[in-house]
Amino acid sequence: MEKKNCYVCGKEALSKNEIGLTKKLLDKNSRRFYCLDCLAEYLEVDTEFLLAKVEEFKEQGCKQF
Ligand SMILES: [Zn+2]
Repeated sequence: MEKKNCYVCGKEALSKNEIGLTKKLLDKNSRRFYCLDCLAEYLEVDTEFLLAKVEEFKEQGCKQF
């Protein structure tokens, strides 16, 4: 899979979770990806909330995680 960088801070090689979260929470077809910290800031939530979301999506059997 192509490596993605954070749109905001430029962090390289975003994890599958970070990419999956961007897709699930922002836009499935997003071409801009956010690292965990920047996504949390963008959505005005904390990173724990996002990590809990990852677990939630995994439990739902989402293939993006
Ligand atoms: Zn970032």
